Amino acid sequence: MSENGMYDLIIVGGGPAGLTAGLYAMRAALKTVLVEKGVAGGQVAISDSVENYPGIEEISGFDLSNKFLQHARAYDLEVVNQEVVAIEPGVEHHTVQLANGVSLRGHAVILAAGGSPRKLNIPGESEYYGKGVSYCATCDGFFFRGKTVVVVGGGDTAMEEALYLAKLANHVYLLHRRDALRASRILQQRVMAECKIEILWNTIPVEIKADEGGVCAVRIQDTKTAEQRELAADGFFVFIGFFPNNQLVPAGVKMNADGYVVTDEKCETGIRGLYVVGDLREKYARQIVIAAADGCTAALAAAHFVESKKAASLACEAPAELFSNP
Ligand code: NAP
Repeated sequence: MSENGMYDLIIVGGGPAGLTAGLYAMRAALKTVLVEKGVAGGQVAISDSVENYPGIEEISGFDLSNKFLQHARAYDLEVVNQEVVAIEPGVEHHTVQLANGVSLRGHAVILAAGGSPRKLNIPGESEYYGKGVSYCATCDGFFFRGKTVVVVGGGDTAMEEALYLAKLANHVYLLHRRDALRASRILQQRVMAECKIEILWNTIPVEIKADEGGVCAVRIQDTKTAEQRELAADGFFVFIGFFPNNQLVPAGVKMNADGYVVTDEKCETGIRGLYVVGDLREKYARQIVIAAADGCTAALAAAHFVESKKAASLACEAPAELFSNP
């Protein structure tokens, strides 16, 4: 770690957006540190298979995450395994507070905190988490070999994870609250062609039941008739989207009604030198390639910002204002 805790750039979050920012920042010769509280790769690391990252036809999420990390490390990116508890903007520098009490100071900060799986908030979901309820098929699918599982969701994630679980489980119920899937056409076709997957349309789960062995049944409801019945199942997997991890976003930064941060085309927020990238940023689509592109954009913009700031301070100009003019 830097002796005086001062960096050109501090990156918070080690998913595809943060690691790509790290790669570009190191190539731009910025003194950079990346802080990540868990494993590198974020949500991607727990994906079974990635088939749409350009140039790579098929790779596991874990392997792709490692490639991002190795690539950034090849340029000597410093990676600190710590939780960030606060980001405090300042005119001279921004401060990033770590859970271990250490303060890092940076001319620029890139926040790449991503999102977390959304929960259903139905009876049994939190009680039986880890006892049959899961948000990661790659992590927990192994426990359901030859068994029956329920998957909830109609998007790309639910399709991919249902297909993965169909390789292990005996039967997969796919519950969707409407009569049409949101997922991409190619994934829909694969799901329809998989005989182990049974789609229950217009259906929502209302309660998860368990015995001493873990989850044993799921109470479901028809959204059109309100009729309820019980499915015998050993596992219950929820893939109903994400919510943005915006807890570290400083006061005054603009967010939309769903909690995603609004930035300009450089991924810069209304606070000078504070950038938000990846799934936390308001955007049309959330894909790995777009998160990586955000990281690149923000690092190049941060390099320009830091160089201008240093040049201005050498020329003894008046310090810049914290908030930029819209
Ligand atoms: P998503 O696209 O937002 O889909 C969430 C699904 O869950 C929707 O079908 C939604 O139903 C359903 N849902 C939401 N709340 C629900 C509730 N309370 N009860 C029951 N169902 C509920 O989320 P995602 O699949 O996680 O994907 C997130 C983003 O990542 C998307 O942009 C996706 O394209 C991208 N992604 C891409 C890939 C890939 O390209 N390989 C893989 C994974 C994810 P409705 O349809 O009725 O709203």
